[in-house]
Amino acid sequence: MNKHHRQIASLLFCTILLLLHSLHAHAHTVCIIGSGIGGASVAHFLRRYSDPQTIGQITIFERNGVVGGRMATVTIAGETFEAGGSILHPKNYHVLNYTKYLNLQVKAPKHADDSLSLGIWDGHKFVYKTLNSNSNLPIVQRFVSIANSIVMLLRYGVFSLFRMSSFVEAMLSKFLRYYEDFGARPVFESVEEMLKWAGLYNLTTRTLGEELVGVGLSPLLIQELVTLLLHGAIDRNTLQVYEPFPRESPDPVEWGCEVITRINYGQSVNISGLAGAVSLAGSGGGLWSVGGGNWQMAAGLINRSNVELHLHEEIESVSYLGDVYELNSTKGGSYNCQVTVVATPLDELNILFNPEISIPPRKLQHTHATFVRGLLNPAYFGLEALSDIPELVGTIESADLSFSSISVLKQHDKDMTYKIFSREPMSDALLDDIFSVRVETIKINWGAYPHYQAPEKYAPFILDGNHVYYVNAFENAASSMETSAVAAENIARLILSRLSGQDNYSSPNLKSFTGDSSKMHSEL
Ligand SMILES: Cc1cc2nc3c(=O)[nH]c(=O)nc-3n(C[C@H](O)[C@H](O)[C@H](O)COP(=O)(O)OP(=O)(O)OC[C@H]3O[C@@H](n4cnc5c(N)ncnc54)[C@H](O)[C@@H]3O)c2cc1C
Repeated sequence: MNKHHRQIASLLFCTILLLLHSLHAHAHTVCIIGSGIGGASVAHFLRRYSDPQTIGQITIFERNGVVGGRMATVTIAGETFEAGGSILHPKNYHVLNYTKYLNLQVKAPKHADDSLSLGIWDGHKFVYKTLNSNSNLPIVQRFVSIANSIVMLLRYGVFSLFRMSSFVEAMLSKFLRYYEDFGARPVFESVEEMLKWAGLYNLTTRTLGEELVGVGLSPLLIQELVTLLLHGAIDRNTLQVYEPFPRESPDPVEWGCEVITRINYGQSVNISGLAGAVSLAGSGGGLWSVGGGNWQMAAGLINRSNVELHLHEEIESVSYLGDVYELNSTKGGSYNCQVTVVATPLDELNILFNPEISIPPRKLQHTHATFVRGLLNPAYFGLEALSDIPELVGTIESADLSFSSISVLKQHDKDMTYKIFSREPMSDALLDDIFSVRVETIKINWGAYPHYQAPEKYAPFILDGNHVYYVNAFENAASSMETSAVAAENIARLILSRLSGQDNYSSPNLKSFTGDSSKMHSEL
């Protein structure tokens, strides 16, 4: 290379450096607190919807040593089980798309094909237990299920069954509006606005119990069907059922629904109608999870979103300095970002905001997940043999109960792995009563989801009127992996629209995602 060429090369190099510098100078930096599905989704959608000139560095802070938050697994006897968020719905389009994007395995739950026996325990006795066909022959099982379908149609009538199913379907079809293209779907500045636009807001102003009575379901129908839906013994579409419930049970509306809401949200039918409908949808057919653990969705999105990840770094303060926010961590780190996203519930955290922020008080419902490898004690349930204990023991609301549900996760050669959900910690003494053999026990205390009420009150998406955003404000509507992703997608659009100075932003400068989002429906 002669002198002339060298001069041109160094001029080109300087020009590229200057260009890069000017690009970087305009790009906004984003700090995200929390590496669960919410935080990971914000990073993902910011990258999908913008160019490097708009969003520069994204930093995620995670106080734990692993990503995923409430998506986590435990390993017992070499097998991995979901410890937090476990079940996904077939219409959870964002998370389903993540699995495709990240090449993750979509896994059907263990009991998708075979039937899981269910019992409803009131603290003293089983008030209901399903009957098995006692045959492994598919033809016999099919015959039993057809016979049950006929019994069911005669018992409830087609219209009643339709009403039951349509309550959940109506919620789901409204929720699907959140996957519409940008042109049809505004950017939402508040949870209320987002719920009202989809027609879901009213469901959060009344309790699940009020809603179900309001749509005209008879208490008997709710008592019987809702519980069977939970069980998975009935598929809403094919109307396959097992033995119906006894008619004489007390307060059937509360009784049947509570079995589900206690398992899914650890609460009673006093939760809001929307949280209740999401809970019921989580007991329908076609449910799935990610093979190896749902947490891999967060890990994969973070890996692919060009993010600087700080594990073991807990943020303790967020201060507005005029043009940037300064985030300080408990281990002495200090970071400046133009945008801050809070992707974790603030309810039990002590993050100091300067200036102060104000959000409605909200309690988290704690769920204790206890994993036991061993054998249940039939005598505890007043039964003779271990095989008489149903694989899923649900419960009704009663002061006498020390757990919400117990389910078999895996049958080993000589013992089993069980998962217990309870509102209070399970003491060792209690576990020794319930189990005759206990080889291994793992206990996790989750600040699991909001304590739902009706009418719900919502924190703002924009916490300081400027550029601090709160993904988990949406959790008052319903808490699930998909709702976190849906809220995160809106937050990503909200950030981009506000950075571009267009408050009611639809699409022009936003990197179009129309192709992908329309595929979302057709492919799935
Ligand atoms: C027992 C249980 C069962 C569930 N079952 C289901 C189910 O079957 N299906 C379903 O869809 N959903 C289920 N959920 C709900 C679902 O798991 C959650 O709604 C979802 O995972 C929430 O994700 P997120 O990213 O919004 O919050 P999180 O997952 O809670 O992520 C927040 C992250 O922020 C981190 N963090 C907090 N404070 C700080 C700080 N100051 N600095 C740095 N990092 C911080 C936390 O460590 C955490 O990793 C269940 C939840 C539980 C607990």
